[in-house]
Amino acid sequence: MSRLLSIIVPCYNEAEVISESISRLRAVADSMSPDIDSEIILIDDGSSDSTRPIISSALHSDPRLRLLSFSRNFGHQAAVTAGINRCRGQMALILDADMQDPPELIPDIVRTMDSEGADLVYCVRRERQGESWFKIHTAKAFYRLINRMGDIRLPLDAGDFRLLGPRVIREFNRLPESNKYVRGLTAWVGFRQVPFLYTRLPRLAGRTKYPLRKMLRLSLSSLVYFSTAPLKIAVAIGAVATLCGVVLLLWAVLGKLTGFTHAELGWTSIFAAITFFGGMQLMATGIVGLYVGSIFEEVKRRPEYIVESDSLDSTRP
Ligand code: UDP
Ligand code: MG
Repeated sequence: MSRLLSIIVPCYNEAEVISESISRLRAVADSMSPDIDSEIILIDDGSSDSTRPIISSALHSDPRLRLLSFSRNFGHQAAVTAGINRCRGQMALILDADMQDPPELIPDIVRTMDSEGADLVYCVRRERQGESWFKIHTAKAFYRLINRMGDIRLPLDAGDFRLLGPRVIREFNRLPESNKYVRGLTAWVGFRQVPFLYTRLPRLAGRTKYPLRKMLRLSLSSLVYFSTAPLKIAVAIGAVATLCGVVLLLWAVLGKLTGFTHAELGWTSIFAAITFFGGMQLMATGIVGLYVGSIFEEVKRRPEYIVESDSLDSTRP
C-alpha cells in the first residue's frame, strides 16, 4: 500500500530562491521509492515580493504542488503549523524554502523513520555553514537554558527540519494553544524520537528572514510557554533579598536600641539598596508580566493564521 508524504515549506519573500527550490523538491519527489507519493505544500506567509505568483504559475506543471496563501504575514511557526494542520499525508516533513536543509536527504530521513520504527525524526546539524558565530552560539545557549528550565528536552542543534509520523501529526493537531513553538511541541508529544545527522548549508540566495529581533521574540515566548522557572527564580531571589533585609533591619534597630552600633546608615548604602531592589522588583514584575501577556494572548482564542486560499480547494473535483 502506498503512503503519502507531505512536504511542508514555509515561504516568506523567497522570490530569489523559490523556483529552484520547487524544482529540487520535485526531483526529490520523483526519486522517492515507488510506494511513497508526495504532496509539496508551499505556504506563502504573506510575502510582499513575487513569491506567490511564482508558486502559482508552477502549480499547473505538477499536481503534487499545493499553495496555501495566508492573508498576511503570520510568521514562520504559524506557517509550519498550517502545513501540519492541513496536510493529507501520513508523514509530514518540514523544510525551509531557502534549501539550507537539503531536500535530497528526505529519502534517507524516511528510511530512518521506517528502519527505527520512529514516530519522529529530528535532523541535527553536525555542521552549520554560512551562519554567524553569534547565531550559532546564542542558539546553543538558548537550548541549554530551555532544557534546564523547561518541561521539554531539545537537542542543542536541531531546528524545524524534521519528519513527523502519523501519531505525532495527530497529537500536534490536538494541541489547543494558539501560539505554537513547533520544534518544542513536536518534542513534547513524546513517542519514539530519533536523530538524523546532517550538514546545514548556507542559504541559496536572499537574506535571513529571522533577524535578531524575531529570534529573541521566539526564544522568549517559547521559554515562557515551556517553563515556569523564571517565576520561581524571581520568588527565590525575592526570598533571599527579604532575608538579607531582615538581618540588616535587626542589626540597625537592635544596634541603635542597645547602643551596640552607633552607625548611621549612610547615603551610599541606602541609595545602593533602593536602586538595586527597585531594579529587582521591576524585573520580577516584568517576568510576571510576560506570563500575563501570554495568558492574554491565549484567552483571546484568535486563530493562529488566516488562509486566504488553498490551491487544493480549486482543484478538488
Ligand atoms: N519564514 C516564514 N515567515 C516568516 C519568516 C520566515 O514563512 O515570517 C520562512 C522562510 O521563508 C524560510 C523559513 O521560514 O523558509 C526559515 O527562515 P530563514 O531561512 O530566514 O531563517 P534562518 O534559516 O535564517 O534561521
Ligand atoms: Mg534559512
